[in-house]
Amino acid sequence: MFNRDIIAAFEQKETPFFYYDLQLLQATIDNALTEADKYKFHIHYALKANFNERVLQIIQESGIGADCVSGNEVLKAVETGFSPDKIVFAGVGKADKEIIAALHHDIFAFNVESVQELCVIGDLAKKEGKVAKVALRINPNVDAKTHKYITTGLDENKFGIKTWELNECLDVIRNFDSLELIGLHFHVGSQVVDLNVFKSLCVKVNEFNNWFDERGYRLKVLNVGGGLGVNYTDPDGDPIVDFKRYFEIFDQFLERKGEQEVHFELGRALVAQSGSLISKVLYVKNGIKKHFLILDAGMTELMRPALYQAYHKIEHLSAKQLSEETRDGSVNYDVVGPICESTDCFGKEVELPESKRGDLIAIRTTGAYGEVMASKYNLRDEIRYVYSDEIV
Ligand SMILES: *Cc1c(COP(=O)(O)O)cnc(C)c1O
Repeated sequence: MFNRDIIAAFEQKETPFFYYDLQLLQATIDNALTEADKYKFHIHYALKANFNERVLQIIQESGIGADCVSGNEVLKAVETGFSPDKIVFAGVGKADKEIIAALHHDIFAFNVESVQELCVIGDLAKKEGKVAKVALRINPNVDAKTHKYITTGLDENKFGIKTWELNECLDVIRNFDSLELIGLHFHVGSQVVDLNVFKSLCVKVNEFNNWFDERGYRLKVLNVGGGLGVNYTDPDGDPIVDFKRYFEIFDQFLERKGEQEVHFELGRALVAQSGSLISKVLYVKNGIKKHFLILDAGMTELMRPALYQAYHKIEHLSAKQLSEETRDGSVNYDVVGPICESTDCFGKEVELPESKRGDLIAIRTTGAYGEVMASKYNLRDEIRYVYSDEIV
């Protein structure tokens, strides 16, 4: 991903910053759309993965819809130019003002997460003189086989409506003229790499689809959520996920009745590989047992390692500038940030070329859940970012 020219350009910039490869982003989106179009599948982009201005603009221009998890994300999507009839709104705790804002924009669907929320949306829509289109987010009790902190589809998780509450949901919907049931929604977790998980999800969706059909509800939309994982260990070998196989699985295993539409909510898979966090070595600490590289980027720029023990590939960019002969040996470093927390660590015992103050380091696959989670903790600088078309 990084040739000599790019690295030379990085040398001139103040670090740390997020680097976005907009060409790779475009190629990823194009590939996802091509594969989804084969089956007329609809894609919504999960804004929470990355709402950087230009990243969002490129995705919006591609014609993809938006998947929002807050009222401000709904407003941001509308502002960016996403068509409201392609915006879905999920989240376990939608506040009244967020619901009202979404009603005013006549969004495509509320993904409703509880019976009580259904009543609140019904009430608010009635007051606003609107009909809210709702999809029921069902918790299918499917194990996403991912990290427990990013699993969402198990009975023990806070998300979604439990299957024994579905009759009650139908009662509520019948009671409100201001509610229109348009479909079902599922989202089992994030960074799912075992595609069998999606086969299991299809089997569950088919059961629920039948359940509703038997009760006279021919639903227009089956929204199967997102969660498709990316390759964190080999970002260059595997820069675009296998969308072909992913959509094939749904085509093969998901039963559609009549004109039923299938919707997806992809976040990470669309944006993760196009981002890298570029940082410089501030200090090298050599201990007896441990060697530390202290970077100028920390958990305030990239929280995933501290938050869910996430792995990111760490690459020594300055060494790439040198020829093989002039490189020194390698050292196992604990690569850490400057923040006053022991969890502020990007990787332990990472084998890297012997490093010195000022060397450039790339932390890869940070286009998703990177910049968006940045914080001001320790009164850190405002986050910086650089786009590929600005430097080459
Ligand atoms: C976060 C989220 C997504 C996107 O998840 P990815 O793992 O980034 O694809 C989709 N749908 C809902 C409801 C979400 O909360």
